[in-house]
Amino acid sequence: MTALQAARRTLSEVFGYESFRPGQESVVAAILGGRDVMAVMPTGAGKSLCYQIPALVLPGVTLVVSPLISLMRDQVSALLQNGVRAAYLNSSLTQRQYTLALDNARRGVYKIIYVAPERLLTAHFLDFALHADIAQVVIDEAHCVSQWGQDFRPGYLDIAPFIAKLPVRPRVSAFTATATQTVRQDVMRLLELKAPYAVTTGFDRPNLYFEVRREGDRDLALLRFLKAQEGKSGIVYCGTRKGVEEVTGMLVKNGVDAVGYHAGMGDEERMSAQEDFVSDRAPVIVATNAFGMGIDKSNVSFVVHYNMPKDLESYYQEAGRAGRDGEDAVCCLLYQPADVYLNTFLIEHAQENMQLDTQTQKIVTDRAKERLKQMTHYATASGCLRTKILSYFGEKPENPHCGNCSGCLMAAQERDVTREAGRIVAGVMALGGKYGKALTAKVLSGSRDERIRERQLDKLTVYGSLKSEGEENIRLMIDELITDEVLEITDGQYPLLKPGPRAREALLGDEPIRMTLTAREPAAAQRRRVTPKLMTDKALLGRLNRLRRKIAEEQHVPPFIIFTNATLRDMAAKCPRTRAQMLRVEGVGENKMDRYGDMFLRVIREYLEE
Ligand code: ADP
Ligand code: MG
Repeated sequence: MTALQAARRTLSEVFGYESFRPGQESVVAAILGGRDVMAVMPTGAGKSLCYQIPALVLPGVTLVVSPLISLMRDQVSALLQNGVRAAYLNSSLTQRQYTLALDNARRGVYKIIYVAPERLLTAHFLDFALHADIAQVVIDEAHCVSQWGQDFRPGYLDIAPFIAKLPVRPRVSAFTATATQTVRQDVMRLLELKAPYAVTTGFDRPNLYFEVRREGDRDLALLRFLKAQEGKSGIVYCGTRKGVEEVTGMLVKNGVDAVGYHAGMGDEERMSAQEDFVSDRAPVIVATNAFGMGIDKSNVSFVVHYNMPKDLESYYQEAGRAGRDGEDAVCCLLYQPADVYLNTFLIEHAQENMQLDTQTQKIVTDRAKERLKQMTHYATASGCLRTKILSYFGEKPENPHCGNCSGCLMAAQERDVTREAGRIVAGVMALGGKYGKALTAKVLSGSRDERIRERQLDKLTVYGSLKSEGEENIRLMIDELITDEVLEITDGQYPLLKPGPRAREALLGDEPIRMTLTAREPAAAQRRRVTPKLMTDKALLGRLNRLRRKIAEEQHVPPFIIFTNATLRDMAAKCPRTRAQMLRVEGVGENKMDRYGDMFLRVIREYLEE
């Protein structure tokens, strides 16, 4: 059996998957062939399998450097569930546990060991590593090595010196979900990858509709958005803990079933909020960016950002938690200029407790500000939003107008209003600077309002000159013309309209003026439906879910460690009756079949017999 055949078999028998996803097989093949790898794949693409499968096929142990204790814990529990011998070494272990784990490692008990970067160069760990048969060193979340990245972690700089100390250089593979071109270069250089096999798989998430709203009142904008979502489930991200509390309160007062979540809350309260959301008891969770990592809820129909995040990396990662089930979903960013000031402040104070030297601190701050600038551009400039995201991550979209974002919809609805603008200016002049926006709009639309007749404004030639537009559109145009300095509005209690510095140009119609005038709620029908609905049996799925929760509670692990939502959905759709059929369900490998297969088969059988 060739190594690649062994890999395919491992995929099916250990992990329970029938086929590799895009990009996975070529990475596995490269690692098995002894090459270094640099893989950039979006969150959820399945990076773990790319190194876990070679780890099981190759003789020796695989070391995985990972930045977060919670990530390590989840990965290791998931591996143990699949019958893979794995462990983690980080500061969550007591000294005794740590020594015990290292002793086991020395005896070759583990195939995969997750380790925090700060451990690598410690005497204790080196003593193990220098004598071990290390097949592979994996760097997960590899962007942490770069000062250009959003999560620079000085400990990652220890990785290359660590590898250099090893008597035999193992293959080295680096994985990340978010890496711009600069970060990628940094990763390859700082980790000293040798002629790596480099792969970047599609970042595009075609089923996500992206939109930006720049409205004055975010609460109103949010309520309007949620109303259009009709009780579907989603996340509202806020920039601060205080924001979370205020927005949750505001939503509850307006009859939305929302729960709040942030790191300042007590453990119990936080876990219960999360549980309410994951189990669909509360359709909306309002959270800081502390929420999301390791949450495996696939039916998230929308992610709203109440505040603009500090960079597109964070934005795309958080927004990307929508639509993991492949269903159409909406990612909406509510932008206000104040967000830029808040983020600048946060950036300037972020590095204070990282103990960086002054020069490094300045570099990190400057780069964070540059990323903020790109984020602000996304939020404020016109054009296709998807194209902006993809090109930020170094991908060239096939079509520069995706047709599935507010940028594209706006562009499609943009009109030439040069002639209308000229008539508005003429109207404002005829009214002699004595009236405000509302009355001007009434005059131009030919309204029969009493106030107009009283003042005999219906006798003016401009009366009704934009009758076909209607009052609302005329008001929107006036607002835009004020922004463009074609018109001016005075201060005071009754602001009055006057011609602005550019009124003459507009009157002459020298330069074409284009605007988008529609209200912003893109009707669901208007949006392109990207994915067909999957057929699943909701009632059966509910029972499978309950069984999964029961098992998870008994074992004190999160439910997705037992089976993922995707696996339960596939099970409900395939309705297996036998062991062989059960093994064909995505995510059911032999180990999980032995542990849980019969329990789930029983629930299915009972359900079918009713
Ligand atoms: P990433 O690290 O890229 O964000 P993960 O490695 O955590 O993603 O994988 C995301 C999910 O996809 C996991 O539930 C995993 O089991 C599943 N998955 C990975 N590869 C496959 C595959 N070939 N077929 C089906 N599911 C897969
Ligand atoms: Mg991962």
